[in-house]
Amino acid sequence: MLKITNLTVAYGQNIAVQDISLEVIPGEILALIGPNGAGKTTLVRAVSGLVSPQSGQITVDDQAIADIPSGERARMLSVVPQARHMGGAFTVEQAVMMGRTAHMGWLGRECQDDRDAVKLALEQTNLKDFAHRSISKLSGGEQQRVLLARALAQSTPVLMLDEPTNHLDLQHQTSLLSLVRQLAQEKQLTVMMALHDLNLVSFVADQVALIVNGLLQCVGTPPEVLSSENISQAYQIPVDIVSHPRTGSPIIFPQGIVKERD
Ligand code: ATP
Repeated sequence: MLKITNLTVAYGQNIAVQDISLEVIPGEILALIGPNGAGKTTLVRAVSGLVSPQSGQITVDDQAIADIPSGERARMLSVVPQARHMGGAFTVEQAVMMGRTAHMGWLGRECQDDRDAVKLALEQTNLKDFAHRSISKLSGGEQQRVLLARALAQSTPVLMLDEPTNHLDLQHQTSLLSLVRQLAQEKQLTVMMALHDLNLVSFVADQVALIVNGLLQCVGTPPEVLSSENISQAYQIPVDIVSHPRTGSPIIFPQGIVKERD
C-alpha cells in the first residue's frame, strides 16, 4: 500500500503542497486532479523521491521511501513523467531497456528476462514497429508511449504517472488508460496518476483526490468528488454534470463552451 501522511513540500519559501494525506491500495487507481499549479506534479515527484518533503511521510508497504536505497526504490516504484521533447541518440528499444537498469546485475548486462520485459512493454504500448527508431525523431504522443513502456519494463508494484495522456490522440488515450486499468487489476499495481481530463478520470479512477492551491479539498469515488459544486468551486467555472447513459459515470461539461440551441 502507498501511504502519504501529512505531506508538505516547498520550493524555497513557496509551499506547493500542504499537509496532504492519501492512501492507495494495490489494484487501485487514484487520480490527482486540480487546477494548474495546484500541486499534482509536486505530489508525484515527492512520491517518486525527486523532491524531498519539508515534513510528513511517504511509505510503500510500511517502508519509508526516503530510507529506501535508490536501486531498491527503482524496483518498487516507476514513474511516467510529463513528456518533454526527448533528445539523445537512443532507439526506442534502448530507451525502454533503461527501465531494466535496476534489475540488472552490477555489470549492467541485460539477460533474457530484461529482453522479455522490454518486448512485452513494446507490445503493450503498441511500439513494436518503432523499436529501432530514434526517440528524438518521434512525435510527442509516440514519445509519451515510450515513457510508459520504459516504466512498464521496470516491472514495479507501484506506478506513478504525470499527465500521461498529454499529446495522445483519442485511440491512444483510450488504450493507455485501458492498459493501466487492466494492469492495476491483473497485477494488483498501485497506481497514482495526475490527470487533467475529468471525463477520463471519471471512467478510469477508483478514487479521486481534488487538490487546490496545494491543499486536499476532498477525496472519494468519482461520483463523490466530481460534483458540480466541487468542480465549479475548484476551477472557478460553472459546469453541468450528467450521467453516462450506460455506466452512470459523471460527465462534465463546462457551461461556457456548451452551444445553446433555440
Ligand atoms: P499543472 O496542472 O499546471 O501541471 P500542478 O498541479 O502539477 O500544475 P505543480 O507543478 O506541482 O502543479 O506546482 C505547484 C506549485 O509549485 C506551483 O505554484 C508552481 O509554480 C510551484 N513550482 C513547481 N515547480 C517548482 C520549482 N521547480 N520551483 C519553484 N516552484 C515550483
